[in-house]
Amino acid sequence: MDFPPIREELRGIEPYGAPQLDVPVQLNVNENPYGPSEECVADIARAAADAAASLNRYPDRELVALRTELAAYLSRDVPAAPVSPAQVWAANGSNEVMLQLLQAFGGPGRTAVSFAPTYSMYPEYARDTSTTWVVGHRAEDFTLDPEHARTVVADHRPSVVLLPSPNNPTGTALSPEAVTVLCEAVGESGIVVVDEAYGEFRRSGTPSALELLPAHRNLVVTRTMSKAFAAAGLRLGYLAADPAICDAIRVVRLPYHLSAVTQAAALAALRHAPELLGKVDELRAQRDKTVGWLRAQGLQVADSDANFCLFGTFGDRHAVWEGLLDRGVLIRETGPDGWLRVSIGTAEEMGAFEDALVEVMEEMA
Ligand code: PMP
Repeated sequence: MDFPPIREELRGIEPYGAPQLDVPVQLNVNENPYGPSEECVADIARAAADAAASLNRYPDRELVALRTELAAYLSRDVPAAPVSPAQVWAANGSNEVMLQLLQAFGGPGRTAVSFAPTYSMYPEYARDTSTTWVVGHRAEDFTLDPEHARTVVADHRPSVVLLPSPNNPTGTALSPEAVTVLCEAVGESGIVVVDEAYGEFRRSGTPSALELLPAHRNLVVTRTMSKAFAAAGLRLGYLAADPAICDAIRVVRLPYHLSAVTQAAALAALRHAPELLGKVDELRAQRDKTVGWLRAQGLQVADSDANFCLFGTFGDRHAVWEGLLDRGVLIRETGPDGWLRVSIGTAEEMGAFEDALVEVMEEMA
């Protein structure tokens, strides 16, 4: 028997994660390139200090103040049907929110479904909760064909459907029609999770699935402060859904899973929302510029509603990735064969990426 006596299906598996390399231009994990202002840093530090004064006590395990502010933030997207605090839940990153969803709604004998290419953590949530994992596929242009979605759901009767919108790694947003088809096909024997980690970067005219919440009790929309809010280090993700879904998660969450310091820092960051979100428009413009530039080089680029884009295709994508890294530019080798993904950074960083890519492509021609 090999030591340690780990579960058989975990033996020999490498932990998930992109390389964390110290290079000048980091465009590999879809972070926001802009850090907080001095005032925001000072406000977060004050809030953390206040929380530290009572660290001998456990934090509010119901996260009432934080859920109230997150509900107010989300309601700005859907003023006609505001989101209530009872519809919101939060955890340490949207990764933890989704793992909790699988803990509550997945499990042995149950199935989770997504449509590839899709976010590579989803099969890990399924594995870790002993949920059967099934993947359908997306169309050639990475959109979701409602007929195919209906068939996969009918064949597998999933308890959970997980779909990012905009999708990682392709940047493709789901149409409201596709979300509606899925919610209706799954019915009340399952939940449909629309993962809007990159929701704030969607192009104008692209709706959020939040608009569909009043119509579907089985719809869950997840968000994060890691991307548009420029707070990946904070580890704060959240969801909006029917209050009964939040109540179900409260059964599986660890007691006091969100520390007093995290709650205080997140509340302080939310007070600075206009500043932290202030760069979103700039990043969207930079994204559209990058997509245009890549296409002008004769490359294929998937339409993107996110803060990254998927481009290609290359006979040897690893060589391109490596050539960029040699020039100090770190991007992500992910997506279907031959494609690469680049996060949108500052204008200077995108300039460095473009210069490096021209050199690499010339070298390989
Ligand atoms: N969903 C998608 C589609 C993502 O790309 C990511 C981060 N890469 C996450 C969720 C998780 O983000 P976090 O845990 O930082 O909220």
